[in-house]
Amino acid sequence: MRVVYYVVSNELVKFSSLLPSNRNRSLLVHSLVKAYGLLDTQENSTQQRTCLEIIRPVPADTKTLSQYHTREYLDFVLNSKKLHTDTLYTQKAELGLEEDCPPFAGLPAYVRLIAAANALYASTGDAQISVCWDGGRHHAQKARASGFCYVADCILAILALKRATNLARSPRTKPRIMYLDLDLHFSDAVSQAFSSSAGVSSAAQVLTFSIHHSAPGFFPVSELAFLPDPDNLLFDPFTLSMPLQRGASDATFARIWPCVERVKQAFDPDIAVVQCGVDGLAGDPHAVWNWSLGAADGSLGWCIKRICNEWGCKVLLLGGGGYNSPNAARAWAYLTAIALGRDIPLDADVPDHATFPLYAPSFTLDVPAGNAQDHNSAQYLETVDRSFERVAIMIEEHLSSALQTQ
Ligand SMILES: [Zn+2]
Repeated sequence: MRVVYYVVSNELVKFSSLLPSNRNRSLLVHSLVKAYGLLDTQENSTQQRTCLEIIRPVPADTKTLSQYHTREYLDFVLNSKKLHTDTLYTQKAELGLEEDCPPFAGLPAYVRLIAAANALYASTGDAQISVCWDGGRHHAQKARASGFCYVADCILAILALKRATNLARSPRTKPRIMYLDLDLHFSDAVSQAFSSSAGVSSAAQVLTFSIHHSAPGFFPVSELAFLPDPDNLLFDPFTLSMPLQRGASDATFARIWPCVERVKQAFDPDIAVVQCGVDGLAGDPHAVWNWSLGAADGSLGWCIKRICNEWGCKVLLLGGGGYNSPNAARAWAYLTAIALGRDIPLDADVPDHATFPLYAPSFTLDVPAGNAQDHNSAQYLETVDRSFERVAIMIEEHLSSALQTQ
């Protein structure tokens, strides 16, 4: 029987819904998941032999948050009075609490809940798949909010998972964690935190892999956001980036997916932490990629089905970007069904519920591709292929030599 954890509580929805970049998105997501009956534990166990457990996060304490964030950042972000004192403008700017990350009412509670929602997985981890759509804040840094992200929940979760001895397949080995990021934007903070240049001696325990859009000046600018260069002596095969061009479609994802599988096979993780940002889906206001949710080869749903049903490791599914809220709700409801081993037809009507009118005009679950041209040429994708084949071999060599020296 597959055990699935789904993280939600009234408090989590209340505070996540205040996030300035995604107002009410959390409410829409969890309402739609519920409207489809996906949180009905009885239904899951009788229909699919899946045991669903609802996990209600307990706000993380400052000690937990300090495992990654600096004291200076936490002193500010957890303090409502300081956050709303106008004269502290310079400090707020230094901590990134301006422009796209303004302080907002409820921010201290939000930070504590998001950290808890995600990091708790490590201490309760007998689930095959855990789902936390309010997490996935991959731009939040140690001492700075960035790109709509105030709390580094992905990093805190990975740090907790590294210590979770119940995850490793042998008592002699530490758990191996593969972080796969499908958001339109590069996972700068997470990749940096676990890259060998960060001085963390975890290179062989954590692998980060971000598939993202790339263009001059596109956020976030990072020296890690390039196609791997295995000829560079400083290249770290455990910090991976796959830049894709404008218009990336299901066909492009179907074409590059064997690279992801090859890396997974080489690294052989105990758990895959998958950031399922949906700002690359067609219909997002970014309008950069042309990815669909649907069942076609290479669609987001197709990729997540492979991870949940075929990878054979534990899976933690996180949210992320996604600025068309009804489409984010559609996507994450569909991915929740996949996690539960349930099948919802994409062309079925959205069930009647409080936020139903927002699903006009289609009133269905599908997020179909648009007409944008895919700029990922066959030649570019061949280069990607060749590069990742060499990367996979490097990973295997590194792991086997590490094993021999143990
Ligand atoms: Zn994004």
